Amino acid sequence: MHCRYCGLDSSYKNGFVKGKQRYKCKNCGKNFQEKDGRTKGSTLTKQALAIALYTMCRASYNFLAKKIFKCSPTTIMNWIKKGAKTARMPKISDDIKELEFDEMWHFLERKENQRVFT
Ligand SMILES: [Zn+2]
Repeated sequence: MHCRYCGLDSSYKNGFVKGKQRYKCKNCGKNFQEKDGRTKGSTLTKQALAIALYTMCRASYNFLAKKIFKCSPTTIMNWIKKGAKTARMPKISDDIKELEFDEMWHFLERKENQRVFT
């Protein structure tokens, strides 16, 4: 078994973690598992494309799942949620004092259950 960290084939079996075989590297001393549930690179690419289509092209979960990725809408929803959790907040320049969003005012006011400006 090749070490996940240093790449050398000098590991030995070192018990089980959650039912999966754990290995320990003789070279660097780190523990690792053969398949530890990390996401494949191709899946990361699909997730990035799904997030781009969802946010910029307004594609629905169902459209992305059935027409593009051939998976369940729940998978798409989980990808979008994961992307939202890891997204960084945009930096707003200090010289911007006021912003105006079309249609946002209407939505915010409706949530507050106050008078609606249209
Ligand atoms: Zn190692």
